[in-house]
Amino acid sequence: MASRGSRGDPVVTDPLPRPAFDGHTHLDIMDRPVPEVLAAASAAGIARVITVGTDLESSRWSAARAAEYDEVYAAVAVHPNDTEKAAGGDASRTAAVLGEIEALARLPEVKAVGETGLDYYWDDAAPDLQQEWFRAHIGIAKRTGKVLMIHDREAHEDVLRILAEEGAPDRVVFHCFSGDAEMAKRCADAGYVMSFAGNLTFAKAQNLRAAAAVAPADLVLVETDAPFLTPVPWRGKPNSPALAAYTARGLAEVKHLDLAELCDQITATGERLYGPW
Ligand SMILES: [Zn+2]
Ligand SMILES: [Zn+2]
Repeated sequence: MASRGSRGDPVVTDPLPRPAFDGHTHLDIMDRPVPEVLAAASAAGIARVITVGTDLESSRWSAARAAEYDEVYAAVAVHPNDTEKAAGGDASRTAAVLGEIEALARLPEVKAVGETGLDYYWDDAAPDLQQEWFRAHIGIAKRTGKVLMIHDREAHEDVLRILAEEGAPDRVVFHCFSGDAEMAKRCADAGYVMSFAGNLTFAKAQNLRAAAAVAPADLVLVETDAPFLTPVPWRGKPNSPALAAYTARGLAEVKHLDLAELCDQITATGERLYGPW
């Protein structure tokens, strides 16, 4: 159920029966203040969020918000599409940026190194450069003992290969999982967590729903990637963490799971990955 808020923003009128959390969002690029976003999320049953950096500035911002709000944890990294912009291929600038990412990753309120990975859909950065940064971020996740949060767009084979070559950290999350059922099985075999975003609810997303159906219940999360990828029935409107409630419902349907049980499972998986909030 959904109805329009006073400003035309989506409102969740049917909150989740048990709390869950938004495993990947970008609070820094929303058009509403953080307290308002968190209050709307909480009212929808989305009790917590992980806000994710994509460059040094947004990583610093994310870590600061995680220090400020109990409901917020942070992930820090340079997004694959931002690697060229971050250092222009200059070795000493690259080392300086990665050094600061690693220092941020050591903060207690920073729970993940991400989003990092490979994006072959856009051509903002050459694949070689993206791979170099991805390998460096894997090293940071391992040295700091934090979760590796992966962005994988049209790059499944190279992401899996580089993880195997580098040796994956103990805890790996594929944010906005975009593989098919076969990819989901490979991730499950490796123990990688698959985080589903609002595109799970799109009419054309049969392959993604097939992947979600075979993903083990203890290896799935939901996320918004807000302000992008707004779930049905609010496509076209700005996304926000509250709307992860729709994705959780969609995921419960696909997996034929009781919604309350799925929420509790998501919370348990979140605590396994990130520790108790
Ligand atoms: Zn991403
Ligand atoms: Zn993202």
